Amino acid sequence: MGHGTSRDERTGGGMAAGSRMGVVGGSIAGCAMAVAGIRAGAEVTVYERGDGELRDRGLGIVIPPPLHAQLVAKGYLDAAMPTAPVSARVWLTRAPGERSAREFARLPSPVTPCNWGLLWGALHAATTGARYHRGRPVTWVGRAPAGGALVRTAGGEDAYDFVVGADGHRSLTRRVLAPDLRPSPAGYAVWRGTLPVDASAEHRRPMELLREAWVTIGFPGGHGIFYLIPRGGGAGPDDRLLAYAVYATPPAGSPGEAGYVRQLAEEHFPREWADIVARGEHTAMTCHPVADLHAPLAADPPFLLAGDAAGVTRPHTASGAVKALQDALCLEEALRTSACPEDALRHYARERTPEVARLVELGRRLGRAQVERAPDWTVMDQGSVDAWCRATLAGTSSYLYADTVDTD
Ligand SMILES: Cc1cc2nc3c(=O)[nH]c(=O)nc-3n(C[C@H](O)[C@H](O)[C@H](O)COP(=O)(O)OP(=O)(O)OC[C@H]3O[C@@H](n4cnc5c(N)ncnc54)[C@H](O)[C@@H]3O)c2cc1C
Repeated sequence: MGHGTSRDERTGGGMAAGSRMGVVGGSIAGCAMAVAGIRAGAEVTVYERGDGELRDRGLGIVIPPPLHAQLVAKGYLDAAMPTAPVSARVWLTRAPGERSAREFARLPSPVTPCNWGLLWGALHAATTGARYHRGRPVTWVGRAPAGGALVRTAGGEDAYDFVVGADGHRSLTRRVLAPDLRPSPAGYAVWRGTLPVDASAEHRRPMELLREAWVTIGFPGGHGIFYLIPRGGGAGPDDRLLAYAVYATPPAGSPGEAGYVRQLAEEHFPREWADIVARGEHTAMTCHPVADLHAPLAADPPFLLAGDAAGVTRPHTASGAVKALQDALCLEEALRTSACPEDALRHYARERTPEVARLVELGRRLGRAQVERAPDWTVMDQGSVDAWCRATLAGTSSYLYADTVDTD
């Protein structure tokens, strides 16, 4: 594993030790689940459809600092993986009748932004000890007549004590547990982009702000999020990329071209922030329709779902990867403390099924409040943002709203 942890410390030696665990999908959830299995003493095989490195996928991933610390302590992540932590969230909008920014609220919000590729690379490095097959799509999974599960690929059929579906939002594994489940479209989209920080040198004020906080910009009918992430790709640990995500409803009939989000930013964002969006590198993956879904059960032996396969939350919760990482910590604990893999999977289902449902519901509420029924941002101030966040959270918690707990 290479993070200073010996095999004896890593493997739980629990009753699940030696059980055969198959993992469909080798992205964030698949790698994290593989590490969990190895640490609990299982024999792990991962099947990943993609045949290249997954490093270039995705852009920024924000996780809570305590989770980052826990993953480093347990050897899931190398402490040397660069991150770009900040401790506050600043809310801006365009001053009425002007092009300048008006800061209307600032909340404590400690977050650890990561580069997706570096996060995947660190998790993948920690899967040493598992068999990781690239370019090996799984074509079918099913129950074995004598118990356990079967995984079929072009190379044949393999038998496992249990199989983890970490195969993303279109999960083939989930179809065994919930054949009729379909995503619910939110009716709006998110545009994501990045900009190297040296290309934003003339945006002095935004860059100063982003070194201490992540920024939300409200505009009629939506909002944008801006934050710095480590640059990755061999750059120094302190090199940064500016990452953003803009949520809005694309015009009817339009698939959401990059031109639309630039036009929107030009019309509604403070000047320097519109300029950042105008320059962002929009790649093919930068406009996603927003949708959500959650499986009715996170596990039903011999199958278990993790990450987006178990549920997709709207990105406002910044919790898709977080959930996948917590899924892995839960599986490790369940395998270490259960009498057999079936009990471990039932333990996992009891803990993770309600958590996925909670996050999906929270994502819907945040989406309604911040996009579908976005407030008149021009009249918002610190007090109204505090009250509005409390009302939106409605008693539940989110690490993004660290200090906004409902005390009523
Ligand atoms: C705009 C946006 C912002 C986000 N921001 C955050 C954030 O700040 N924080 C956060 O925690 N999350 C965030 N997320 C969510 C996060 O990106 C995802 O939830 C997370 O990456 C999902 O990981 P996964 O491994 O479950 O799925 P995926 O990354 O989709 O991986 C699934 C893998 O399975 C493989 N696969 C699929 N089918 C098969 C098959 N049949 N055989 C073999 N392999 C297969 C695929 O090739 C793929 O590699 C964001 C998402 C969006 C859209």
